[in-house]
Amino acid sequence: MSRGSAIDLTGLSAVQVSEWLQSFDTVLCDGDGTIWQDDTAIAGAPEVVNALQDRFGKKVYLITNNGLKTRQELFERSQRLGFHLPSDRHILSPTAAIADYLVASPQFDRARHKVYVVGNAAIARELRQHGIDSFGAGGTDELPPGDKWPDFVAREFGNPETARDVGAVVVGWDEYFSYCKMARACHILCSNPDAAFFVTNRDAVHKYPAFCIPGTGAFVSGIEACSEREALEMGKPNPLVLEPLTKAEKLRTERTLMIGDCLKIDVGFASNCGMLSLLVGTGRYSNLSDVQREKDKLAQPDFYLSRLGDLLTLL
Ligand SMILES: [Mg+2]
Repeated sequence: MSRGSAIDLTGLSAVQVSEWLQSFDTVLCDGDGTIWQDDTAIAGAPEVVNALQDRFGKKVYLITNNGLKTRQELFERSQRLGFHLPSDRHILSPTAAIADYLVASPQFDRARHKVYVVGNAAIARELRQHGIDSFGAGGTDELPPGDKWPDFVAREFGNPETARDVGAVVVGWDEYFSYCKMARACHILCSNPDAAFFVTNRDAVHKYPAFCIPGTGAFVSGIEACSEREALEMGKPNPLVLEPLTKAEKLRTERTLMIGDCLKIDVGFASNCGMLSLLVGTGRYSNLSDVQREKDKLAQPDFYLSRLGDLLTLL
């Protein structure tokens, strides 16, 4: 089977399916659009994921770019929806990756440093669970009526210590994104070159059938432009997010299958890491011809299924 040929697994013989199953030891599974939509499991997905793990002995990890829940909250959701993951360490999420990274960083001192978050409250909860203080998450930050910019700047940015105590700036999806937040992040990043700069993911837009809304990539681009610094991406398709597993020899990318619904993020991630890829049609793409139309722009998957649950009859 040649790479990137988007083979529909339902067209394989029993022998070919068996060979395919033997070609990987580890499965990385995307969340939204692949195994669940928010708090609802996609039909058949729990049964397939559990069969791969429990019947065929595959090591299964859930890998999401969703920064709106902590690792523990995602694990609890997976249990509630019937997925048999052995522990929350089988959840790879950007908020957990950032917290783990800071805990391991010799430059970040949890006793002294705080984190400035342009993002939602889950980031602050995840940091807190790792013993890290933060500010800014989950709230509004607007210029009060009648306030003038020079007053705001003098009040907020007048004390150089304020920026020096910030060990990192984290950007995630933020429905309260504002000029004041951007100004605060810009000030910290420009005046404190030692502060780390992370983004949960660079998803540009979230497309729903009836509307499109800006993703985290849109927010971080503005902050990168004004701070003249580049954020470290802690989500797919950056191979960095797999480093803790590959370094601990818990995963070999050449023996790993990545399952997801997004060509750019999931198949791109598999391609960047040298993993096999299976694209499912329950999210961004609803049929194989839409996938193939992107072949000049984006890496193509090795395998395709209309929905993950279709694998059940083949196993
Ligand atoms: Mg997805």
